[in-house]
Amino acid sequence: MKVGFVYDPIYLKHDTGQHVENVRRLEAITSHLEQTGLKQQLTPIKPRPATIAELSLVHREQYILHIQEAAQRGGGWLDMDTVMSSDSYDAALYAAGGAIEATEAVMNGEVNSAFALVRPPGHHATTQRAMGFCLFNNVAIAAKYALAKCERILIIDFDVHHGNGTQEAFYDNPQVLYISTHQYPFYPGTGSTEETGSGTAKGATVNIPLPGGSGDAEYQQVFEQIVVPVAKRFKPQLILVSAGYDTHWADELALMQVSVTGFAQMVKIIKGLADELCGGRLVFSLEGGYNITALAASVKATFDVLLGNTNIEDPLGQTRYQFAAPGIAPLIKAIKEIHSLR
Ligand SMILES: [Zn+2]
Repeated sequence: MKVGFVYDPIYLKHDTGQHVENVRRLEAITSHLEQTGLKQQLTPIKPRPATIAELSLVHREQYILHIQEAAQRGGGWLDMDTVMSSDSYDAALYAAGGAIEATEAVMNGEVNSAFALVRPPGHHATTQRAMGFCLFNNVAIAAKYALAKCERILIIDFDVHHGNGTQEAFYDNPQVLYISTHQYPFYPGTGSTEETGSGTAKGATVNIPLPGGSGDAEYQQVFEQIVVPVAKRFKPQLILVSAGYDTHWADELALMQVSVTGFAQMVKIIKGLADELCGGRLVFSLEGGYNITALAASVKATFDVLLGNTNIEDPLGQTRYQFAAPGIAPLIKAIKEIHSLR
């Protein structure tokens, strides 16, 4: 089993200072992969900058220029949450290019699966707006890139936030099935069950808005009862994952209670889908995750599952919080009805 990873020090040049989305996230991941010896089991994939033509598959050219010019002026705040430095444009080009190269390596059979360890993250970036720490939508760009080589792509987004930018990019595109699990109501406000796509793409957006407090059991339920049957019906040829680990219980940005073990369980289900439906072709791209200990352990667990390693370490254990999520059976039933699942 060949598992690739994309990383480059240029991702540390997106300097956000003391912002929660900072260089320490990737530093923690890479040092944990080295210290545990896991890195030696992986195949490095070299990123490159995405071209303007590739970025334009998702973003307006005027917006791309706006980010380039903001970097030339030394960076600054793009909205209340999103900050950039003078090197952020270059880092963002390599983040999108990293997701593309991971996808390319999987598509051409160089590796079985891959994980792009990139920043800035991408799933909130819209066609013409930076938001939620995101500049360019790495996964959406990689998906559009891959559509030149295949017909049906599934994007699974388990970041705790709804990937509004990704949803928007494919809202009217029946070739891309977007499934998101997220805390709701929550930032950025989108992601209700009623948002299902438009025109011929009606049904190709599947939102699973979960109540705060949801943990391993709830995620396993919605993966088994919604994600798996919707994916099997769609029959993707490639699966991309917006891998956000801010769903972990120790993450302070949100209220979910997923453990490292819970992430491993989700990744197992996703890998099972890829093996069954699309020759194993599976690409992860890093989105959120702000408790760096939980992040590093969860990314390692993800690689362990992709490699077929059976011993998954969970140094943080199960949630320390006592609040239970409200029952989600009515929600699952409603989503099944909306998407005509038995
Ligand atoms: Zn997030």
